Amino acid sequence: MATGPNSSTKTRFQWTIARKIGGLATVLIVFILSLLIYSIVALRGMQTELEEIAELDVPLMELINKIEIQQLEQQITLDQLLRLGERVALDQNLEVEAKQRLHAHSEALNQHIEAGIRLSEMGFKTESKTLFDSIHTSLLEVRREAGRLYPILIGMVETIESGVYPDERTVDDALSKGVEFDRKILALIQVIEAFTEREINILEKHNKIFFMVNSALGASGVLIGTFFSLLVIMGIRSNLFRLTQRVSEVTQAIAENRSIPATSIDVDSSDEIGNLAGKLSLMIDSVSEDFQKRDELSRVLNQLATTDTLTGAFNRLKWEEDQALEIERVKRSRDDLSLIFFDIDFFKKINDTHGHDVGDRVLIEIVREVPGQIRQTDSLYRTGGEEFVILTPNTTREQAAILANKVRQAIAEHDFETAGHVTVSMGCVQFDKKSEDDAARMFKRADQALYRAKESGRDRVVTAA
Ligand code: GH3
Ligand code: MG
Ligand code: MG
Repeated sequence: MATGPNSSTKTRFQWTIARKIGGLATVLIVFILSLLIYSIVALRGMQTELEEIAELDVPLMELINKIEIQQLEQQITLDQLLRLGERVALDQNLEVEAKQRLHAHSEALNQHIEAGIRLSEMGFKTESKTLFDSIHTSLLEVRREAGRLYPILIGMVETIESGVYPDERTVDDALSKGVEFDRKILALIQVIEAFTEREINILEKHNKIFFMVNSALGASGVLIGTFFSLLVIMGIRSNLFRLTQRVSEVTQAIAENRSIPATSIDVDSSDEIGNLAGKLSLMIDSVSEDFQKRDELSRVLNQLATTDTLTGAFNRLKWEEDQALEIERVKRSRDDLSLIFFDIDFFKKINDTHGHDVGDRVLIEIVREVPGQIRQTDSLYRTGGEEFVILTPNTTREQAAILANKVRQAIAEHDFETAGHVTVSMGCVQFDKKSEDDAARMFKRADQALYRAKESGRDRVVTAA
């Protein structure tokens, strides 16, 4: 038994369309979810870094600005001091003011530097440790230089206070310490500039990350949107396709006057189109049913119109139709067509002797008897009261005469109920292709032949020339 390939396909995983679609949707949704998770993590990172900037970088920069201002003020004070020294003891108030200012600057500067050092130490724990480290070093150097410069300046003020102008060496020393202090402040400012760069870098980095995440989200959104739209469109299309197929099938069947095939459309009715398709399908089925009833009715009507009610044989109307058709057919082919016309002998007597019912019975029994004697392609018609026709396609008059005699003999030998033995007389005729023959002429010749059969003693067959 060839069950091998079948059993293997049964157990193997099948990539059905539904599974493919489901798989693709899962991949897309997982991708979008990972993007969302990644963007949340990135957002957290950005928040930490921005908090760091707010807590450390910004106050540190403010402090360094203040240190710079203090340095500038200190320069102005030094300048004033030097000019004071030139006109020594001229204005006692100015000297006192300068000394107070120097002390105030020194104190403020120290406070700022200490605060700066504390902040930069806090920055050691961050990712930008080296940057905070260099700020820290720079601040320490500024503190050291300030520690060297300020005692000299205060000493100078005190000298001036005592009415003596500071010697050249002290002034030079103060100036050189001042330059060194300025240089350290400048170095500090340069280091702090790196902070601005750090902020720009952080913002750019996050900008880039968010641009990428948003682009990917947008792209996958478009993808998933397109995908689901396609899914919906395909569903609608397949329903519409089936519906269109069914409608054209029905239309064609109606146009060709065929019965409508009963297959109902297999639609997925989970959406409006599917619903519509389902309803249309039901409508088509009901129309199809109506058509079937109509066909059946027309078949019954046709049978009623072409059948003789007493005997069940074909009637005169059917004979006329069939004969016309057969004549048309033989005219176009090499085939022959013959006709046997027969009439029951002394039928009136049967009626008179046994009654009309027995006469009817004879007619019925003849219709039962004859088909057993003729071919399937031959047809028997009751054309009048007790007159019959047998239409015999593909038959010459000689063959028809043989057939007629066979039928005549069978009837003659039949034992009719009550009536006993009954005979018939027959006229045989063939369609004449050479002359301008037609149905009426053909029948007239058959009628004449039958008349001759009656005339010449009945219970016989006469063939028309
Ligand atoms: P022939 O041998 O010359 O044919 O003599 P016949 O008595 O058969 O004469 P004819 O053919 O003229 O008679 C036809 C008779 O058939 C007349 C009518 O009463 C009878 N008949 C016609 N139709 C029916 C019918 O449906 N049932 C019965 N029982 N008799 C019918
Ligand atoms: Mg008659
Ligand atoms: Mg008769």
